[in-house]
Amino acid sequence: MNTDDPLAPLRASVVPGGAVHVPRGWVVLVAELHDELVALDPTIAYRWVKESYGGLWADPVTDNREVRLAIRRFEQASYRTCSVCGSPGALHGNPRGRYRVWCPDCAAGWRGRGYGLVPETVGTDNPHAYDRYSADGEGLWCEATITTADGETRSRTSDYLCLGPPPWVGCGLEQVFADLGLPYLDDDAYCAAADAIESQLATGTTATVELASGELRIVLVEPPKVGA
Ligand SMILES: [Zn+2]
Repeated sequence: MNTDDPLAPLRASVVPGGAVHVPRGWVVLVAELHDELVALDPTIAYRWVKESYGGLWADPVTDNREVRLAIRRFEQASYRTCSVCGSPGALHGNPRGRYRVWCPDCAAGWRGRGYGLVPETVGTDNPHAYDRYSADGEGLWCEATITTADGETRSRTSDYLCLGPPPWVGCGLEQVFADLGLPYLDDDAYCAAADAIESQLATGTTATVELASGELRIVLVEPPKVGA
């Protein structure tokens, strides 16, 4: 074992078929994550620890809520940590959906090559800010509205989606359909609707999909204040 590798203990905790694949700038961050998770669960194991959509993605083999919330915190921290050098950074992207967290120095060479800060290049909503639509670091609050062909509208608001970033649908769309009284979709139509919602929410806070039963509109909203 290479004892100079700060990630050696983490690499020893990956199940067969999994992998640790993180950029140099995140090695300290990821080593700290592993230390914290071992304290919560000495038997912690991972399927994957890698980069996804510019941020850290760790997939533990456990349903331990404390573990998942700790991972969520470190994943959020990765969006503020340069993946090249570890300095404070911000999410950059290009219009084709390729993302990297860079500090200003490390980003300099990529400016003019289609990359810029995410609010400049791929939308007005910085994925860092999706946090404000979540009460617990997992669920993502939204208002779901169906407008049927005859103009009737129905809305429901709940934490139907998953925080990400980028936000993802998870099992939330079935619950939206159940709550809005919509007919069950076959798998092809369901996956197409979920893909359309996720691609729109990757760069914004609203998504609209056309369904056989009408137009479904998803708008991210801040969670209700406790006690309100
Ligand atoms: Zn840097």
